[in-house]
Amino acid sequence: MNKQQLLDELTRQGIQDPQVLAAIEKISRQDFVPEEQQQYAYANDALPIGYEQTISQPYVVALMTQAILKHHPKKVLEVGTGSGYQAAILSLCVESVYTVERIKALYEFARVRFSALELENIHSFYGDGYEGLAAEAPFDAILVAARAPEVPKALLDQLTPQGCLVMPMGDEVAQELVLVTRQDEQWHYQSLGAVVFVPLQPGIV
Ligand code: SAH
Repeated sequence: MNKQQLLDELTRQGIQDPQVLAAIEKISRQDFVPEEQQQYAYANDALPIGYEQTISQPYVVALMTQAILKHHPKKVLEVGTGSGYQAAILSLCVESVYTVERIKALYEFARVRFSALELENIHSFYGDGYEGLAAEAPFDAILVAARAPEVPKALLDQLTPQGCLVMPMGDEVAQELVLVTRQDEQWHYQSLGAVVFVPLQPGIV
């Protein structure tokens, strides 16, 4: 599949936000995929990026981005930088992106990519996303790129009063993508459908 075929497929799957489609057109997924996976760069699949991690499926990246853009966020936190692809897509759609990764090598690779592509509104951090990014909080939206049975409390607290968060909830058997919208001291949960993600893990390595 090439980039245009991927865009056509995403449109058929219900991705309509013009900003999301434009970002997927502009950012080359090839730049975020390891050498040995290059031929699959535009397949609508998750791909291995080493360290037992994956670059998320383009459809899921588009769905998560579309879900938070409905709330018009300016400042967004991503937990789980991985390859950096999701952060790159976000960087074309919002004012500033903060992204945190717990695996040092992935954090470092992603930083090199952001700087080579001159994505200057991405601020990347090495740390444990379970704790969010207190020093930079609050965020209008938070996107968690790894699954957990529950949304970490720190992340709910680091949302602005009308903020939103998207995250896969569940275990290795069953997960669903959940959109949480905050209204002051209330958090409302809504399912966006079944997904498959790598786990959120505590601590840094
Ligand atoms: N958004 C990424 C998807 C990477 S997969 C992309 O577009 O490529 C999920 C990533 O979350 C992995 O890199 C994993 O190391 C990271 N991760 C898991 N638990 C984490 C935590 N507690 N804090 C920060 N990153 C975490």
